[in-house]
Amino acid sequence: ENAFPWIEADAGIEFDKWGLPKLNESTLQSTQPKVFFGGDAAFGPKNIIWAAAHGHDAAISIHKMLIGENVEDRPAPGMNIVSQKMGIHEWSYDNAPTIDHRFKVPHRPKAEALKDIMAEVELGFDPKLAFEEARRCLNCDIQTVFEGKLCIECDACVDICPMDCITFTDNGEEKELRTRLMAPAMNPTQDLYIGNDLKTGRVMVKDEDVCLHCGLCAERCPTGAWDMRKYYVEMTQAEHACRKQ
Ligand code: SF4
Ligand code: SF4
Repeated sequence: ENAFPWIEADAGIEFDKWGLPKLNESTLQSTQPKVFFGGDAAFGPKNIIWAAAHGHDAAISIHKMLIGENVEDRPAPGMNIVSQKMGIHEWSYDNAPTIDHRFKVPHRPKAEALKDIMAEVELGFDPKLAFEEARRCLNCDIQTVFEGKLCIECDACVDICPMDCITFTDNGEEKELRTRLMAPAMNPTQDLYIGNDLKTGRVMVKDEDVCLHCGLCAERCPTGAWDMRKYYVEMTQAEHACRKQ
């Protein structure tokens, strides 16, 4: 028996062997074209972020279906990448790396928690601890962007990078190239960032896996060949955005 015993067997909605509805993963449409699923009902337990995303995707599908468009033509999200430079050494984000380890959420003392089954065990961060934890943010939404045409290959960025993640070298096969970087790039699942257009014909290779997004390379670069840019993704919403297609 599936999790939807109240759905009549002749409703046209097919279920898999786990009792979950058979769905198109991008449109969330079931085998009954007028029925869409989302959240835990779609693919089993996930978190609330997935549930909200399913809601948006299903809303786009429903809207397209109602106006007679193909639900499988999915509108692309909006994307933007904007420089965060505000001055020679000023960025619009806090770029100082911190060496703090993760701060643990304080717990109620065990003796107290065991006495009262209703007492919350996790006490949460106080403002000071929350501030310290937030300062550990690695600014993953801020990307290093390289313009090879502006680079004079002075190696200043290579010298200042605290993680040795920038190398100027001859190009080569990726597997071999990974072994001759300033610090060998050991994680094959993380793509290398390759910049070309250099006057010497070499390439700039950056190991994204270890970058701290500290912006020191962009601060040191005398020509502005490095920039720190914030990457925005604006997810498509139903109605006007999907009608633009
Ligand atoms: S942002 Fe910081 S860690 Fe990343 S490449 Fe530049 S200097 Fe190195
Ligand atoms: S500091 Fe700038 S100009 Fe110098 S090597 Fe790095 S990117 Fe090129």
